Amino acid sequence: MPGNENPSLSAYRLLRLSRPVLVIVPAMGLVLGFGLHVAGDDHWPGVIWAAATLPILGVLIIEIIGSLRHGDVGLDIVAALSMTGALVFGEHLAAVVVALMYAGGQYLESFAERRAKREMTALLTRVPRMAIRHRGSRLEEVTLDLIAPQDRLLIRQGDVVPVDGLVAKGVAVLDQSALTGEAVPARKRAGEPVMSGVTNVGDAFDLLATHRAVESTYAGIVRLIEVAQRSKAPLARLADRFALAFLALTIVLAGGAWLWSGDPIRALAVLVIATPCPLILAVPVAIVAGMSRAAKAGVLVKGGRALETLSHVKTLVIDKTGTLTHGQARIVEILPMAGLSSDRLLQLAASLDQASKHVIARALVSEAQDRGIDLLLPIKVEETPGEGLEGYVDNQRVVVGGIRFVSRHVPRMEAGAAGQHPAGSVMVAIAVDDEPAGLLILADPLRTEAAHVIESLRRLGIARVILATGDRREVAQAVTVGLHFDAVHADLTPDRKIAIVQAEKRRGPVMMIGDGVNDAPALAAADLGVAMGARGAAASAEAADVVLLVDRLDRIPGAILMARRSRRIALQSVYVGIGLSILGMIAAGLGYLTPVQGALIQEAIDVAVILNALRALWGSETS
Ligand code: ADP
Ligand code: MG
Repeated sequence: MPGNENPSLSAYRLLRLSRPVLVIVPAMGLVLGFGLHVAGDDHWPGVIWAAATLPILGVLIIEIIGSLRHGDVGLDIVAALSMTGALVFGEHLAAVVVALMYAGGQYLESFAERRAKREMTALLTRVPRMAIRHRGSRLEEVTLDLIAPQDRLLIRQGDVVPVDGLVAKGVAVLDQSALTGEAVPARKRAGEPVMSGVTNVGDAFDLLATHRAVESTYAGIVRLIEVAQRSKAPLARLADRFALAFLALTIVLAGGAWLWSGDPIRALAVLVIATPCPLILAVPVAIVAGMSRAAKAGVLVKGGRALETLSHVKTLVIDKTGTLTHGQARIVEILPMAGLSSDRLLQLAASLDQASKHVIARALVSEAQDRGIDLLLPIKVEETPGEGLEGYVDNQRVVVGGIRFVSRHVPRMEAGAAGQHPAGSVMVAIAVDDEPAGLLILADPLRTEAAHVIESLRRLGIARVILATGDRREVAQAVTVGLHFDAVHADLTPDRKIAIVQAEKRRGPVMMIGDGVNDAPALAAADLGVAMGARGAAASAEAADVVLLVDRLDRIPGAILMARRSRRIALQSVYVGIGLSILGMIAAGLGYLTPVQGALIQEAIDVAVILNALRALWGSETS
């Protein structure tokens, strides 16, 4: 992606790369000084320990200045104070131990973060992504790696633009917020460049590829993960608040010990014990570990905030088509009107539906292909998300969609469809040149795991389960017999879905699960949006906080358990770690611990706490 390499990011990378070096320097210094000390030298060990501390202290001070500029006051200050104090008062061994443990803690954190990133990247690259390419007067579905510059692609509404290119025809309305943070969609005319990674929120348009996918998708993945990591979890902020109180307590205890005993070394011992560098890492480590654990199960959790919300959702609002049902609908009946043949009806509907990402549209396209029907090129397509689309096929004006949508264009459609509603089946209406042309009846059964998942979610404390579908009420009710809902809302437009989510939010945190472009606004409005990412629209995956990259609902209860476990472990680490540190500080203030002993004890606590936090990576979520 062009223009993405910002300087502070590469400075950050440099710092990252230098992490192992920052661990090696104090480690070598410690060992070398210790060797000389054992050999009887009592001058050089101190010099070496001090020299090995300085680089860490230097980097730390630079980082502290950087974060103070952003208004962040953290426990890093205690680490800097204790290293400086130890150097000033000639406690060089304590200084180098603190330096080593500080650098080691940072290294551990970056290790956990890298691991989570690797897991998520691997996961995203496994997702097969397809694009629709023009070939002659036909459209074909191709994998992204086959796209070459100069290819002409059809970008449907809700598609994420897969490669960099130019608008070839039509006007593109693009949501660039994922790339630029700019919330207002941009309009691009023919000839204007389009960056990969933006979402088409307008009608379908043609894109002329200028780059290959590999040059673009990777950038997209990195962006998604970076956004995820930038969002700070409330729990991490809790740790920051702890940090402030802890900083104050440390200064009071250290100052008090000094005043009371007249011995600055006691203050130093208190500071050294208070240096809980890895302790504040425990929260991020537990969160990142939880995220990477979830990623392994095919659940992409976009950041610590999402992980936390996942642990305490109370209400579920769930979409029907493509979410509760698997969306691989099969045609059970073709009912042509006005003398059309069945094949011609399906040909017109499926040809137009090539321009839509809706699950039913995709089902129609694949069914037509299975039947060996030639699909034609649709032009001037306009889509109303979740309702249907209009456009021209073979010089005929075609309208395809739900009965309500098609009747709005061709009022006589309504009468033609009366009495044709087999219970529980999805009905697609088609009008051609302003005449009712026929109906397609499709069976779109529930996912086999649906009932079980809803039951598990209720057992996990989700008190309300609500169905919110754009489909007709009869269909919603017939398909979901046997599932127990607290409310069923049907015939919803995207903004009515938002209204339902918002009304439910008054009772407690709401999780919304959906798959379509028409669900995207409601996913964004919910406390936690969950997108069916494997086959759903990319727009919904962009809007969501959690993306299911495997096409299975039953990963959700597991993800909730994982989130709860990470949270529990994080809090446990903070409480136990800080409690032990305070005990140690009191002992040091009373003169029972030297700075070196203090440093060693504290580091033992820190290592235990980090290892505890890393438990979130392993183990089972049965509790
Ligand atoms: P849900 O909210 O349950 O996911 P939708 O609102 O997405 O349901 O879809 C409802 C109905 O609208 C579908 O069952 C189908 O009849 C019709 N529909 C919407 N878009 C299209 C399309 N592009 N092609 C054919 N039918 C469509
Ligand atoms: Mg849907």
